[in-house]
Amino acid sequence: MIEHKVNDQWIETLKDGKRHMIKLVKHVLRCRVCIYHNGFGCELPSTFTKGCPFPGTEIVAIDLGIVDENDILHCPFCGGKMEVLDKFYAFDGFTVRCKVCSCGTDCYMTKDKALEAANRRV
Ligand SMILES: [Zn+2]
Repeated sequence: MIEHKVNDQWIETLKDGKRHMIKLVKHVLRCRVCIYHNGFGCELPSTFTKGCPFPGTEIVAIDLGIVDENDILHCPFCGGKMEVLDKFYAFDGFTVRCKVCSCGTDCYMTKDKALEAANRRV
C-alpha cells in the first residue's frame, strides 16, 4: 500500500496513454485543479487504495507534464528534450541539460540527484 503525502511525485499513465509526472501540492482552489477531479467526482488511480487521502483539504494532485523514455520531464523553459551528462566539462558529477536551449541543473554527485533536480517543478 502506498502512503501519499505532500511533495510526493510519481509517474503515471493518464487517459492520453502518455506517461506523466504527477505531484501532490497545496493549492487554494482545492479539487478544482486536481487532475483526478472531473467536475462531478473523483476518478482516483488504483494506487489510492484508501480513496482520496486529502478530502476537503488544499492538497491536490497536479500534472507536471509528460516524461520521456528516461523518466525526465521536458525543459521548463523551451520544452526541449533533456539529457543526462556525466563529467560535464571539468565537473566530476552529473548534470541534466536541455538539448535545445542548454539550460540545466547544478552538478550533482549522483545521477539520481541530478534527475531529481531536473524533475522538480513546484
Ligand atoms: Zn530548453
